[in-house]
Amino acid sequence: MATHVITNVRIFDGTGREAFAGEVVVDGTRITAVTAGAAQRPAGAPVIDGQGGTLMPGLVEAHAHLSFPDLFSDAITRLPVEEHMLITVRNAKTMLDCGYTSAFSAASAKPRLDVVLKREIEAGRVPGPRLLANGPELTVTGGLGDTNAMHLPYDVEPTFCWITDGPDAVRKAVRTLAREGVDLLKLNISGDGGTSSAGADVTVMTDEEIAAAMEIARQRHLRVAGHCRSADSVMAALAHGVEVIYHATYADERTLDALEAARDRVFVAPALGHTWSLAERGVGLGLSQKRADAAAAELDHCRDTYGLMRKRGIRVLPGGDYGFPTSPHGTYAKDLELFVDLLGFSATETLVAATKQGGEIMGRPGELGVVAPGALADLVLVDGDPLTDIAILQDRAKLRMIMKDGALHKHAG
Ligand SMILES: [Zn+2]
Repeated sequence: MATHVITNVRIFDGTGREAFAGEVVVDGTRITAVTAGAAQRPAGAPVIDGQGGTLMPGLVEAHAHLSFPDLFSDAITRLPVEEHMLITVRNAKTMLDCGYTSAFSAASAKPRLDVVLKREIEAGRVPGPRLLANGPELTVTGGLGDTNAMHLPYDVEPTFCWITDGPDAVRKAVRTLAREGVDLLKLNISGDGGTSSAGADVTVMTDEEIAAAMEIARQRHLRVAGHCRSADSVMAALAHGVEVIYHATYADERTLDALEAARDRVFVAPALGHTWSLAERGVGLGLSQKRADAAAAELDHCRDTYGLMRKRGIRVLPGGDYGFPTSPHGTYAKDLELFVDLLGFSATETLVAATKQGGEIMGRPGELGVVAPGALADLVLVDGDPLTDIAILQDRAKLRMIMKDGALHKHAG
């Protein structure tokens, strides 16, 4: 296995500790030494001169849709599986090219896209982030992802979500996805502004349906995320033990109390990139003014809600639902800027959330998302200082080196 010594860098180790000048030694897939000043160099190890750049943990995307093809929902539904798999593979490379070395999938648009991609990445046959694989979102009739309409040929199967009404249908869907090899499950517990007949403030999934999903998920050791915009949907998710809460847009005081009480076991991700881009670019890309307005209204709520979450010590992670025409693949790091500009997080807080806490959501705390002896060597070398200008992470040319599992994916110069 290859050994590398990375010199002449300022190290942001992911914990929030101030960046320091030092060196890092990588042996095989792991970091073996992190030193302030010169490290002891294994004889003959190749040296990567960081030229004064910032060495940081690889970024983690907490709301990834590698199979979303930069199309809106109806067009996703109509994409044939052959094209869809190739697009998914290309998106995985794009994500790694952007310095994201891990992805927590927030759903795959067809049942096996994530599962097959993950297998190929782990075998080293295609480049991509470390992936926790998900299946199609489980929704209910009229919920987010039910793209059917009564006057059209009824296409319940081809939608990018699975429509599962009632606990038995939910159990069967979860069992099927477990059989196919997913790590994660996604439940669309609330509606959504503009993309489902039930709005964002409506809780569409019943307690019985959520309980049925959790019952099988526990049997099969699947981790569960929920699309939860309404306050009641967050409460229901927490009551049933859902671990990852997406959006939480309309969280009220009672919801914030419940999230705070569960803060050691739950993660929240607002998925800002998608909402922000719908508000900013939706109309220009053919969406209705109503849709853009709904997104803008949600952003306003997010600003207040997430400021309060930050103060309460709730883990809030970047990860923005990228994969739509408004927020295409390759623009993931926009979320980091939005954390600073919209939510009032400091750059350091944002990067801790995107690295150390990202390692936690990936289920490998202390091993992923940190630059520390013994941690996996997922590293990014940035030409510049993202702690003073977080927007530079959106510029791929500034990512001089990207390493995953100790292997160089990119090394410029
Ligand atoms: Zn999503």
